[in-house]
Amino acid sequence: MIKPDITPPDEHAVWWFIVSGTQVLATASENDAEPIPYGNANFIPGAKSEYTAQIGEYRGKPAFVLSLTEPTLVLGGYAWQPLRQLLRFGDSELFAIAGRGCQLQHFLTTHQFCGKCGTQTVQDRNELAVLCPECEFRCYPRISPCMIVAVYRDRQILLARGVRHPEGLYSVLAGFVESGESFEQCVHREVFEEVGVRVRNIQYVTSQPWPFPHSLMAGFIAEYDSGELDLQDDEIVTADWFDIDQLPKTPPLGTIAARLIATVKAEVSA
Ligand SMILES: [Zn+2]
Repeated sequence: MIKPDITPPDEHAVWWFIVSGTQVLATASENDAEPIPYGNANFIPGAKSEYTAQIGEYRGKPAFVLSLTEPTLVLGGYAWQPLRQLLRFGDSELFAIAGRGCQLQHFLTTHQFCGKCGTQTVQDRNELAVLCPECEFRCYPRISPCMIVAVYRDRQILLARGVRHPEGLYSVLAGFVESGESFEQCVHREVFEEVGVRVRNIQYVTSQPWPFPHSLMAGFIAEYDSGELDLQDDEIVTADWFDIDQLPKTPPLGTIAARLIATVKAEVSA
């Protein structure tokens, strides 16, 4: 559970997830034994004056977030880097907790005023929430559910390059769940809207928080049912069926997309 707005006692060393927006202070090399700072609050500039909270445990020790408005803090051996780049450490626990820290900061910076009456909010001391002192409206961190699905047909997998993907990178399909929709309905709707095909035999595989800025991805695989590829121009640049043994560049290990592609590979090779 997240313990908001507390500082670790001076005698205790803890892990520090120092975040600003989607930037995290971490070592430049993924070979360092300590990818992020470890020490007590005196060791970290600003730890006693800026917002901190305990956001879980990392490697069995308490993990704290230090949330900074600007990524200006300088600490020897560490550099500010995009949260996404932490994936290269191949450490899912590190990426998950850093993502939680960034989501927490995003929540606090986007809920400074009550959405109902406009009064400045205050932070709840007991749980991660902000409270309106005027009308008592309470807000919790927003989490946006998404589905992500690997569609396959025989030994082929459907991969697409979305408008936000870098050149040459292909991935599986994904989309936000709409109000009042189930994950399964979302899979059917998004796949049809984005690439024009129908799917069947949807199977849940796993989930992953995706902190850009506050998604929760539910991952599925699904079998192709019918239809020809017909791409939605404003979302998908290109999409095609690829032989499972001859894939283009796909998302790195540690992402749910990589996990789903591996699941399809195991499924069609069985
Ligand atoms: Zn209010």
